[in-house]
Amino acid sequence: MSLKIKNWISGLPEYVAGRTLEEIKKEYGIAEVYKMASNENLYGLPPGLAERISEDIGDIYYYPDSSCLEIKEKLSRFYGIGQDKIVVGCGSDQIIEMICDSFTGPGDNIVTSDPTFPIYEKSALKCGGESRKVPLKGFRQDTGRLLEAVDENTKVLFLTNPHNPTGTNITRDELDTVLDRLDRSILLVIDEAYFEYCPREDRLETTDFLAGRDNLMLLRTFSKIYGLAGLRIGYGLGSGEAVDAINKVRLPFNVNSMAQKAAVYALDYAGHAEEICEKVNRQKQVYYNALDENNIEYVRSYANFLLISTGKREMEIVEELLRNGFIVRPGTNLGFPGYIRVTIATDEVNKRFLDVFTGIYRDIYKQGR
Ligand SMILES: *Cc1c(COP(=O)(O)O)cnc(C)c1O
Repeated sequence: MSLKIKNWISGLPEYVAGRTLEEIKKEYGIAEVYKMASNENLYGLPPGLAERISEDIGDIYYYPDSSCLEIKEKLSRFYGIGQDKIVVGCGSDQIIEMICDSFTGPGDNIVTSDPTFPIYEKSALKCGGESRKVPLKGFRQDTGRLLEAVDENTKVLFLTNPHNPTGTNITRDELDTVLDRLDRSILLVIDEAYFEYCPREDRLETTDFLAGRDNLMLLRTFSKIYGLAGLRIGYGLGSGEAVDAINKVRLPFNVNSMAQKAAVYALDYAGHAEEICEKVNRQKQVYYNALDENNIEYVRSYANFLLISTGKREMEIVEELLRNGFIVRPGTNLGFPGYIRVTIATDEVNKRFLDVFTGIYRDIYKQGR
């Protein structure tokens, strides 16, 4: 007998979790392993934040605040946006999921890029919807063709800025065109998980676009520059109509109380986040220089990670990096065979990584094994 699991699920590949740090240390007999695979802030938590969070642990026998009031008040002041235009989720992943829950069903579609962050498609499929995917053009989202792909069944257009896994950006002109041409009955979601990593002069202050426009929602997160990936909290800003709908489908306690507290404190560290942004952007220059010297190609990034060319021997290089204690994401898993995606780490680790990586690259291609 087999159970009557929904058809679309049997068509999905199985989720393969990465090996844990402990497993890798044991397997390769190495003491230090650097996880540079998931774009966390590898400088760690802002100073003092861990202590503040730990003071609240005694309260966890209570259910969390279902309405996330404290964090919404703080975000409302931080951005000068009404609380009725803010929704909080268990990571921005969950907000993507709840957007699809609210907007897409059988016969509906979302429009997005290919490759891109996989959660958009997954969330649409889960609701019986479809995902229309427009290939990237020169590693960038092709806003013209994305607009062309929108049809009468499209409910949501997903953009990612900066984009994952390429790190490329969307320009002001491109965004203006999308906002101008997209039918106002279609929700435009801009996933800005890496917003705070974008160099200041290149940042699009998208919150300025929210006024007088109810079909735009921005997604931001505490997982990346604020260092709270393990607690799971992100938020959406914008469309009051979408926020109302999401609040109806949302489970009552979707954001845990420690995450809510930590996020409230984390917003006090916006200045610290700017420093991290500057550090990471200086470190990217260190990567560019080392890669240029070795004639290794890469994509210029506006985020805290880099897509680096490995050539055909991607998997051998990934394995050799692991042996040396560096975990990176193989591009094959991200729709970019022949590349790896590497999270910018601390200065010391980046230096070691670059030495090891360029050494492996030279060895593998020189020997022509
Ligand atoms: C990391 C990331 C997110 C954020 O996920 P959380 O659920 O908030 O941790 C969202 N979108 C993209 C493109 C990301 O890379």
